[in-house]
Amino acid sequence: MTTQTTQYRLEQKRDVSAGFPGPKSAELAARRSAVVAGGVASSVPVYVADADGGIITDVDGNSFIDLGSGIAVTSVGASDPAVVAAVQEQVAKFTHTCFMVSPYEGYIAVAEKLAELTPGDHEKRSVLFNSGAEAVENAVKVARIATGRTAVVAFDHAYHGRTNLTMGLTAKANPYKSSPAGSFGPFAPEIYRVPMSYPYREETGIAGKMTGEDAAARAITMIEKQVGAENVAAILIEPIQGEGGFIVPAEGFLPALAKWAKEKGVVFIADEVQSGFCRTGSWFASEHDGVVPDIITMAKGIAGGMPLSAITGRAELMDAVHPGGLGGTYGGNPVACAAALAAIETMEAQDLSARARHIEEQVMGRLRKLAEDVDIIGDLRGRGAMLAMEFVKPGTGATTKEPNAEATKEIAAACLQEGVIILTCGTYGNVVRLLPPLVIGDELLADALDVLEAAIRKAAAA
Ligand SMILES: *Cc1c(COP(=O)(O)O)cnc(C)c1O
Repeated sequence: MTTQTTQYRLEQKRDVSAGFPGPKSAELAARRSAVVAGGVASSVPVYVADADGGIITDVDGNSFIDLGSGIAVTSVGASDPAVVAAVQEQVAKFTHTCFMVSPYEGYIAVAEKLAELTPGDHEKRSVLFNSGAEAVENAVKVARIATGRTAVVAFDHAYHGRTNLTMGLTAKANPYKSSPAGSFGPFAPEIYRVPMSYPYREETGIAGKMTGEDAAARAITMIEKQVGAENVAAILIEPIQGEGGFIVPAEGFLPALAKWAKEKGVVFIADEVQSGFCRTGSWFASEHDGVVPDIITMAKGIAGGMPLSAITGRAELMDAVHPGGLGGTYGGNPVACAAALAAIETMEAQDLSARARHIEEQVMGRLRKLAEDVDIIGDLRGRGAMLAMEFVKPGTGATTKEPNAEATKEIAAACLQEGVIILTCGTYGNVVRLLPPLVIGDELLADALDVLEAAIRKAAAA
């Protein structure tokens, strides 16, 4: 077990006895609806006053346990003292000069760190941006210039962002690309979608279990027959899919794809925006599969909550782009860079990868037992502190595995009612995902799991 070295500023205790949404949250909700566009939805009906470690407090004095980390962002906690100090120091000096105009050291130091931490010992180059979507867009730009090809291959259940190109790369239509009322398209051309390895939904049938190699062969055949390897600039894949349902591909899938890409001169891009930075028990999820991506996209956990994203890739690919071809006004903002350096230092100092593995043991130990008792947990999966449960309709776990989005919603709502924030995801809306801050204490996590377990048992008995 890892020693807990974090000093928390807020008491690490769940307490929603004040009731919510309280009057102050209600007032903010009213102000919000008058001025904030309805297209931005929030999972939780309360407004945040403070956050630290595994706790978020609201404006009415309630304390919630945070099992979402603002979607896998605040891995070091929402107010890690090292990040706070680094931001304060930098912000007092200069907030922005634009790296494309007047460069500064922080940007270089982050790139040095990324070269050191990302998989592979080849020579690397990095570029910094603001969001995950921007990182993905730029990885595609680099791959196209470097290969002189245009096609990009993405996978079923993929999520890559909400800008035009990344909407096109994302698999799920509603809500990301369209709704019954209309579409955000037209989308960018030259995007081809192939089947993912989704072990839980591929383990039945005459052929028995589909191996990772089988699933890769299926995708590769489709690419070769329908697109032509010679037209493919890049394969873009999340080593563990995020919004699509925390789908962990079968062993052998990623290495087979990477090997094929290498043979065909296709750039292998690992989108580690959600899975990166200790989340899965190692710096990057690609490492579990022994895969060395040509380009890796990063964001979410990189900077302790400050907006920063990055792509790191093989020097010869990255340097194929002409000067001025990559950039952006705010990309690699100095305050965000200072935060990233501090967050990474915290990850190293507290060995948050080990901490993620410890969280996995705690959570999986309990949920495995629970899954034996209830018949709505179809699958338990994930790595480190990126864990999920896929819910199915009672009695269908061994047969049709009918997705149970209703129970999933009920469970999330029941957890929230008791003061535990959990997120859902999945193509079928039937996955509860757990993304606690990696610095969460054992006791607080155990309390959250008590609440989650009770909610699941209740939904299963309904
Ligand atoms: C969140 C996410 C993105 C998009 O990141 P934004 O910062 O929201 O633009 C891209 N890829 C993956 C895998 C993600 O989880």
